[in-house]
Parts: sequence; structure tokens; C-alpha cells
Amino acid sequence: MCGIIGFIGEKEAKNLLVEGLKRLEYRGYDSSGICVKNDLGLSIVKNLGKIDQLEKDSRLSSVRGKIGIAHTRWATHGEPSEVNAHPHCDCKNELAVVHNGIIENYSSLKKILEKEGHKFKSKTDSEVIAHLLEKFYKGNLAEALLKVLPLLEGTYGLAVIAEKSGEIVVAKKGSPLVLGIGNGDMFFASDQTALINHVNKIIYLNDNEIAVLRKDNFEIKNINGKNVNYEIEELKLGAESIEKNGFEHYMLKEIFEQPKSVKSALTGRLNKDGVKLSININLKKIERVILLGCGTSWHSALIGKYVIEELTNIPVEVDYASEFRYRNTPIRDSDLVVAISQSGETADTLAAIKKAKECNAKTIGIVNAVSSSIARECGTGIYLHAGPEIGVASTKAFTSQITALILLALYIRKERGMELDNDLLKEIASLPQKLILSLESCDEVEELAKKFKDSKNFIFLGRGFNFPIALEGALKLKEISYIHAEGYPSAEMKHGPIALIDENMPCLFICPHDHTYDKVLSNIEEVKARKGKIIAITDKTDDKLSSIADEIIYVPAVHPILSPLVNVIPLQLFAYFVANMKGLDVDKPRNLAKSVTVE
Ligand code: GLU
Repeated sequence: MCGIIGFIGEKEAKNLLVEGLKRLEYRGYDSSGICVKNDLGLSIVKNLGKIDQLEKDSRLSSVRGKIGIAHTRWATHGEPSEVNAHPHCDCKNELAVVHNGIIENYSSLKKILEKEGHKFKSKTDSEVIAHLLEKFYKGNLAEALLKVLPLLEGTYGLAVIAEKSGEIVVAKKGSPLVLGIGNGDMFFASDQTALINHVNKIIYLNDNEIAVLRKDNFEIKNINGKNVNYEIEELKLGAESIEKNGFEHYMLKEIFEQPKSVKSALTGRLNKDGVKLSININLKKIERVILLGCGTSWHSALIGKYVIEELTNIPVEVDYASEFRYRNTPIRDSDLVVAISQSGETADTLAAIKKAKECNAKTIGIVNAVSSSIARECGTGIYLHAGPEIGVASTKAFTSQITALILLALYIRKERGMELDNDLLKEIASLPQKLILSLESCDEVEELAKKFKDSKNFIFLGRGFNFPIALEGALKLKEISYIHAEGYPSAEMKHGPIALIDENMPCLFICPHDHTYDKVLSNIEEVKARKGKIIAITDKTDDKLSSIADEIIYVPAVHPILSPLVNVIPLQLFAYFVANMKGLDVDKPRNLAKSVTVE
């Protein structure tokens, strides 16, 4: 959460920083700020709201300088406001800090600093870093930072500049930070997408490392001040991967990208002999699988459970990463623990996988962002190769995660000497085609959104492989349209939620013609009998359904294991259209941010 970026070189920093903030804006957008240094000192401009506000701020026009840092915030401590926006300064405004993460012991540090005479301006945890630096700064920023870091409990990706220094110093623990090496200039950012078009060489900083950036060189040190080895990687993303390509929003673009992104997840992994994955773990000895995720990734984990149990007969548990890490979880060395995260930086999932490793479980990551912390922590796994996902509500990463989990299930099956179903393999290969057909529901879904956009509540229902899709459909609607929505297994309805049904309650049923079809139909009857409005997503026309459903959306018929992929598309589109018709900011929904790097 939150995006930080910095530049040092021979060009004017301001525009580069504002442009970088825009690319990082999906990480947080309640307020933002910039600090640029020139011979006269530090110029700081901060603003409440999205980066557009900062860009329009007339105070920005006088900002000049070739060294600068900037921040887009997702508040953890202190309301979103100009004074709480970063950068934060020391008492004399001689140094400025941007920080991503949480300083957990900030209040005790603040009390000590206040007793020593430091005056705080904001309500943030981050400001203590600026005052601690002030206390230790004697002309060398890196030396001061190395004294400050051992005092901080919590997580940080941070950067500091000072009036009298020609360097930027950055540090990382638990929040992502990548350095960009240019020709005669250097960048740093929370995410490589901010560096596209500026550099093609990058370095991922490790936890407990600091880097000193100068315009034409840099040093990376550990927390003891010793220089460390690093690996320079190539920045492979092109500018097209972060553009909207004619779509009104990133979310819509990403929904329509799904045939392509699912194809990328399959490429090189599915052939006539079955499934090929580069997972260097002996899967024959695994006795249990534990799937961990948060939010939408938790929903794909739940589908993973249904699929892996169906195809391998190995017991599977699904856990919220944040719950898994803080309870006494018996973990064995015969467990396979799978961390699922789009960004690969989700703090809870990262901590959970570290816990699993400490207990000697085998770990793999299902991650989109290459070289991210979870990918590196797991050491082995399945990259989604879906390309950057910028809309805050996850869409293409979700379908790619399901695809990766299906591949994992088939791979475990193969490794354990069980036969593979050729028909299923063929159907998987044709998935991208099936997703194109599912996207053809777009116009009908838009009409549906017109009819239901003013609903105050919504219930999504599904069974089996599609129960998690009911949860995901409800989550998408909540996230971007702010309509209260719940997802339930259809059969659970009668155990409680049916009390909510009246003529104003729309119920969206996912009812493919699989072995649960007749049961779901009975559940629909139960709602209809209580005057609920019925919307059905199904895969072929039939009289029974047509006679009771108020609205029907058709998707292509597929193997039951693959049905979550085709069924989720109309639900993503529905949430998109409803939010857009309500005039809401689809790509940057209220209170949310992507890449949840705080616990
Ligand atoms: N904890 C800091 C704040 O609330 C940083 C939050 C962030 O990562 O955006 O300002």
C-alpha cells in the first residue's frame, strides 16, 4: 500500500515524480506529496485527494530541482489530510522522509522525542522517522539512517533526502522497494511499473538493506553498514502493459484481457503429455495442501480446494493468511503450503509463508509480479504472467490464479502416477476461446446493470465449484459500487439469509447444468416463493429456469472444473457497469488500495 518514488540525476525531478506517482496511484490515493531539493533548500507540496489534485496545485509550478522524493498515501495512522500527507520533515525542515508501512512503536518513540523537544506536525506514525533522523544526522544521511533503523519496529519502504546532501538514501523491511539504474541518473520506486520508459536495469532491495543513491553511482549496504552483493535484473515490461488501450477504465481493459492472460498462464505448461511445471518439490510425499490468500486470492484458493480434492484426493485446507499466521496452526513437513497473491507483496501472505517455512513445510507461490517478495520467499511456484493488473478490483489475476491452481492439481495428479483425463486437458487448452464467448454477455450484462443499479442489497448464490464465484461476485460489487452484497452457498440460504428475502432483494444464482443443477433450481424456487428477484447465470436454455428467473445471462458450457472461469466474467462486468453508472471511480474505489503491504 502507498507508493513511493524518487529521482536523482541531471533532469528536472518534478514531472518525473508526478508521472511516477500516477503509475503508483493504484497503491493508495487518499493524499500525496512531493519534495524536491535545489541549492536553496527543500520545496515541499502536499495535497489531499488523488494525484490529479497535486498536479493542479499552483504551488507546484515554482518547484525546481534535480533530486526529489514523492509519496501517494493509503492512511494507516492519522486521517487523510494535507498535514498527514508525506513527505514529513524534521523540526528545522532540513530533511524530508517518505514512508510506506507502519512504525508499530511510533507512540513510545514520539513521547521520547517530544520530551527531547521535537515538535510534531502530523498524526502519522511515519513522522517519528524524520525526527529520529534529525537527532542522529551529522552530515551523513546513511550513517544517521543506520542509527535510526534499529529503533524502528514494524515495516518500511522509506526514502530520505536532506537540504545539505546530494544523495537519496532508501531502506527496506517488509515493504517493496526497487532501484532503477539509468544513464547518469537513478530512480527508486515501490513497484517496477513506475520505472517503465526510464530505465531498463533494476535491483530489488532485500529486507534490512539500505541504498545510497547518487546521480551516477550507488551503494547497497546491510543494516550493519557493510556493502552487500546484489543482482541487476532487466526491466522487461513495456509501456503498452500499463496503458488503457482505448478502454475507459483499467478494470474493463483487464476484464477483456482475460482470454489472453489465461492463455499466458497456460503457455508452455500444457501439452499433449499433460502438464509441465517447474516445481522442484517431491509432490509424491505430500499429505495435505494448505492454500493461503487474502481477498480475491482467498476466493481462488477456495476454488483450488475443490479442484485439488477432486483431482488428487489429497485433503486441502484454505486459510486467510492473516488468520493462519496468528494461531497455533499445526504445520508438518509433509504439508504443501501455497501462497496466492497477485502482487506477491501482500504482507499477511508473506508472513504466513515465512511461518510455514519455519515449520519445514514445502512452500510454493502463485504470484503475478515476477521477483516479488512472496515469489522470492517461496523459491518455487507458478507465475501467472498476466501482465500488470492496475484496476484495484482484481479480475484477470483471479482467473489466472484459478488456471494456475487447476494446472497445479493436474501436475500433482501426474506426479502421483494418476491418469489424466484427456478431455479435460483439451477443454483447458480451449479455455481462452470459451472466455471470449463469455465476454459476449457484455451488452446483456450492461442492460442488467441498468435495471439493478439502484438496489441497496444483493445476494449471490452458487454451489460446488461456483460457491466461491458467488463470494467473488459479491466482493466485486461491494468493492467498486459500495452496494451491500453477500455471497452464500445456495443450499445455505434456508439456514438464515432467506429471512432477508422480499420483493426488493435481487438474488443472483450461478447455475450451470452440472450435478448440482436440480438442487440449485429448488433453491431458486424457495427464493421465488418469497418474492425475491431472480437473476440466473447459466450455460444453456431450459424451460424450467426460463419460467422462474426474472433475468438470464448465458455463458458457454464447459467442464464443471472450468465453470468458475466462464461464470465470473458476467459478475465482473456487472460490478463494473453498476459502479460506472453510479458515477463512481471504478479503478480507485473508496478506502481501498492494491498491493496490501500493511498487516
Ligand atoms: N503509516 C503511514 C501513514 O499512515 C504510511 C502508510 C502508507 O503506507 O501509505 O502515513
